[in-house]
Amino acid sequence: MPPTFSSVDEERQYRKQRLAAGFRLFSKFGFDEGVAGHITARDPELDDHFWVNPFGMHFGHIKASDLILVNHQGDVVQGDRPVNGAAFAIHSQVHAARPDAVAAAHSHSTYGRAFSTLGKSLAPITQDVCAFYDDHAVFDDYTGVVLDTEEGKRIAHALGDNKAAILRNHGLLTVGHTVDEAVWWFITMERSCQVQLLADAAGSPVLIDPEMAKITSGQVGSHFAGWFSFQPLYERIVREQPDLLE
Ligand SMILES: [Zn+2]
Repeated sequence: MPPTFSSVDEERQYRKQRLAAGFRLFSKFGFDEGVAGHITARDPELDDHFWVNPFGMHFGHIKASDLILVNHQGDVVQGDRPVNGAAFAIHSQVHAARPDAVAAAHSHSTYGRAFSTLGKSLAPITQDVCAFYDDHAVFDDYTGVVLDTEEGKRIAHALGDNKAAILRNHGLLTVGHTVDEAVWWFITMERSCQVQLLADAAGSPVLIDPEMAKITSGQVGSHFAGWFSFQPLYERIVREQPDLLE
């Protein structure tokens, strides 16, 4: 089960280490594209502040101590590196609209980006993708690099109560009650986009019927399932790159 904490400092450090691990995994999976992409974790004490990667730092180099804390106005209040304007514009609005979302993840991963150009949602064609059945939205608009919080608000509105959104002509966005969950949903959603692109290219995939897709969604798409699925990845990346915890 997700841990409980005896102090806010302990919880903050835990979230930052999970976030650093998330970036290392994003790098390992090749989800980086230049300086694009951001994963955020709400601060456990200052709930309108979030921790995020410094703008221009490679995902594969990020340590917990490199993360910066950004307030609701977009000021960096801890750390001496800048914040990506798009990270603030999108994530500040998602965290504000979704008090339950402790974390949010977005990057320009290849298959998510390719799938996003189709402007449609993922079909229930595999067990894994059922995690997103009736639980992801399509932001069916594109207005350039998101640097305005008004645009972030529109994305948050499209996301609604779902765990994920496909941003047309842009990429994927996921949220979670934990960093672990948001990162896991991103990884498995990216793979689900890859699988649907492959299956659609090869033929006409058979759909899982709606009733069974809903049942499967309850099995693989719960907050706990998302958190739990991340644990082996966390253990692997920490064993391989222990400096991320610093
Ligand atoms: Zn983006």
